[in-house]
Amino acid sequence: MLIREFISEANKSQMIKTLLKKYKVGNVRVKMKSMKEHAHYNVDTGTLELSTRYKTIKSSQVKQFLITILHEIYHAMDSKKYGWKKFKEMYEMEMNYRIAKDQDEYKDNKFEIEAEDFGQKNWKKWNSKFKKEGLI
Ligand SMILES: [Zn+2]
Repeated sequence: MLIREFISEANKSQMIKTLLKKYKVGNVRVKMKSMKEHAHYNVDTGTLELSTRYKTIKSSQVKQFLITILHEIYHAMDSKKYGWKKFKEMYEMEMNYRIAKDQDEYKDNKFEIEAEDFGQKNWKKWNSKFKKEGLI
């Protein structure tokens, strides 16, 4: 069995493209950005930011990569569902609500909890699919 140490940039892009299309957020605004996280949904601008920092990713990082992408895609799906400006308002209200309740504005944020659940629930399915396709 072939164990790959690195996932190429082309394969990484292919996975992102497949996921955006599958979850119908292919037309969300995407920006390439140098950052530590693999991806980040910018609530303030309604933009899905993808990291340019990792040209390739290690096989050991695939799980985190998939969870992060799926988590951020979930935000993009919410944004598409409500309209990004409305979603920005809802997100800010949720943050203020958590602060008022003396909770954490991110960790206890319902949008963050839902997005993380989505990532945790779906990454394995995509991991198997991408493995079968020889992408990872
Ligand atoms: Zn999030």
